[in-house]
Amino acid sequence: MSRDFVHESRPGRVVFGVGAGSLLHAEVERLGLRRLLVVCTRGQAELAARLVVPLGGWVAGMHYGARMHVPVQAARDAAARARELEADGCLAVGGGSAVGLAKAVARESGLPIIAVATTYAGSEMTSVWGLTDAGGKTTGRDPRVRPAVVVYDPALTVTLPARLSLTSGMNAVAHAAEALYAPDASPITSLIAAESVRALTAALPRVVAAPDDLDARSDALYGAWLAGSVLESTTMSLHHKLCHVLGGTFDLPHAELHTALLPHVLAANLPACPAARDALQNALGAADPATHLFHLAGELGAEMSLAALGMPADGVDAVVRRVLEAPYANPAPVTETGLRQLLAGALAGATPAPPASRRS
Ligand code: NAD
Repeated sequence: MSRDFVHESRPGRVVFGVGAGSLLHAEVERLGLRRLLVVCTRGQAELAARLVVPLGGWVAGMHYGARMHVPVQAARDAAARARELEADGCLAVGGGSAVGLAKAVARESGLPIIAVATTYAGSEMTSVWGLTDAGGKTTGRDPRVRPAVVVYDPALTVTLPARLSLTSGMNAVAHAAEALYAPDASPITSLIAAESVRALTAALPRVVAAPDDLDARSDALYGAWLAGSVLESTTMSLHHKLCHVLGGTFDLPHAELHTALLPHVLAANLPACPAARDALQNALGAADPATHLFHLAGELGAEMSLAALGMPADGVDAVVRRVLEAPYANPAPVTETGLRQLLAGALAGATPAPPASRRS
């Protein structure tokens, strides 16, 4: 088969190493920023305050209003604080929630973002923003919200609890897995995605066994960075669409939802994309990637049933309707029967099954 592809490298600087405080100082100096608004969740206030000590007077103010899925009011409050402080840049410390809030500020003001990522969600690598109000979650792309610099310090991730590390890592595996069968995948994104799956799945059992193992944390964060970079450069498919609908409809926890759903989507999709299946088989060292990931996550302690995560059994109809409403990129055809089968398995936390039409 001929190799037809388009590959575009997007700008962005990544600094990876232990010692975020001093690394940050050099990066802020390089960008010439002198009035930073620092955003994080309330839970990471202490960490952020410690981290910015070396920045001294370059910090104009702290804002602890980051929350999951960026509520519109939280975005307004943070943007108002940036204006009031006459900030010239936004420093996000944390996971997708902190980075998401910084993106909301950047979208309104054009301020550059520096992100210090402390989970494996990957948002720090993307130009995707999201906002939530009573009507649900809206997302879009805007190059202005892609951080100018991302600092990865594995030492900052040792406090991420084992269970959240696992599900956050599986969230990253989901980005990489869908990048492998993305309609706009290129040879480079596929290499990056496969290496991401390999690094993450090798590191996560070590992270869960010893959350303060810096080598394991370093390997996991490396895999998460790679996953974030392919999340940015490819179009995600059914798995991300389903997570968007399920998360928005039933307010399910983001990383846990990705973890429980991914094996079921892969079981449905991989028979339709042999190259992605081969890459995952190689990266995981397993003949059946969907079942392998299901057992890996389950045995490490993840909740694998959507019902246990809060999805009501009578919620399937609404999800199927919403997913079928707008066509979405996917390697296998998305049908009502297929979706119902997939959701029934994920709801129950059953071992993933290939699509009914392919079973002999
Ligand atoms: P999060 O940022 O909400 O973090 C989860 C919890 O862990 C928070 O309470 C946080 O304070 C805490 N935490 C984070 N790092 C920690 C650490 N090192 N030690 C101890 N506690 C820590 O969760 P997340 O999974 O990183 O991000 C989820 C959000 O990101 C969702 O809203 C999701 O939609 C969004 N997201 C966006 C993109 C994108 O490209 N725009 C990509 C992935 C995720």
